[in-house]
Amino acid sequence: MSDALLPERLDAACGDLGGLHLRRDEPLAAHTTFGIGGPADVLVEAGTDDDVVRVVQAAARHRVPLFVLGGGSNLLVGDGGIRGLTLTLSGALAELRVLDDGLRIDVGAASTFPRLTQAALAQGWPPAVGWFGTPGQVGGALVMNAGTRQGEVGEVVVEVRMAGAGGLERRGRAACGFGYRSSAFPLGVVLTGALLQCDSHKSKEVETLTAMAHEQLNRRRATQPKQRSAGSIFKNPPGDYAGRLIEAVGLKGYAVGGAGISDVHANFIVNSGAATARDVVQVAEHARALVKERFGIELEWEVRRVGVHR
Ligand SMILES: Cc1cc2nc3c(=O)[nH]c(=O)nc-3n(C[C@H](O)[C@H](O)[C@H](O)COP(=O)(O)OP(=O)(O)OC[C@H]3O[C@@H](n4cnc5c(N)ncnc54)[C@H](O)[C@@H]3O)c2cc1C
Repeated sequence: MSDALLPERLDAACGDLGGLHLRRDEPLAAHTTFGIGGPADVLVEAGTDDDVVRVVQAAARHRVPLFVLGGGSNLLVGDGGIRGLTLTLSGALAELRVLDDGLRIDVGAASTFPRLTQAALAQGWPPAVGWFGTPGQVGGALVMNAGTRQGEVGEVVVEVRMAGAGGLERRGRAACGFGYRSSAFPLGVVLTGALLQCDSHKSKEVETLTAMAHEQLNRRRATQPKQRSAGSIFKNPPGDYAGRLIEAVGLKGYAVGGAGISDVHANFIVNSGAATARDVVQVAEHARALVKERFGIELEWEVRRVGVHR
């Protein structure tokens, strides 16, 4: 099966998706916080679990690649864009319900993560202090196990809901494989929501938690760049900080084209306005090479590089 036949298979898959909103050649730069990325062949929007299953099954049936776009805040989409179907979630999948007097929250994957964070803080959930200020959607936050040392979203997961080619299934926290900015969801599944529970809810006053969250936000504002980025470009290696290592090799301010290492925080690559994905990769790989040469440490990308990079 050659790639030359992909457009035909994609047309066939789109033919199975009547009633869903489809956009052809949609520029993904508009859907990422980096403001970078070529076009999606087809961007399809699904607003219910059943719609998501239809998309997953159409992709499988016609052997078309399927990529799930969340809030686009941890992505570097290649300049060549993304082939096949790119799925975005909306509608009923953005719902959020507070249950059991604030002990539990049921949330759809398309809800924004800041909205979940606010709701969790309002119910006195201490881990939400660590989530505060993280952009994106709940689905992306679950996949990335988003947060900080003060709290990661995976800690409060009871179960996630996901759609695969076999339909809908639920998976308990132990099977999600949450780690530092990672999870072990099988490739090709789409998370549609989660049931969360915080056993330490109301162990601190809401006012205290909100004050702690705002203190963290102020610290972030003082130490992180304001230009467009995808957050930390690399994971922190055990016992150290990627930003410290990149700064130590003298790369603060280093730039290629429109992409440069922030002079505020060296683990952020910022888009000055005209950056390409290629520029970002060149800057990042140069930093990785110098850190490896000087400290013997292999920095691992936290930002996910997806699509066609050239
Ligand atoms: C200014 C800034 C600050 C940041 N600060 C933090 C921070 O403090 N802590 C932190 O952890 N992160 C931080 N980030 C990174 C980013 O916000 C998080 O990783 C976020 O959780 C990504 O969510 P998203 O919805 O944007 O995911 P995307 O970037 O859209 O996608 C990330 C991955 O998740 C997958 N995905 C998304 N939704 C689904 C779904 N429904 N089903 C299956 N797969 C899915 C995508 O395919 C992709 O592989 C920051 C980013 C920025 C720009």
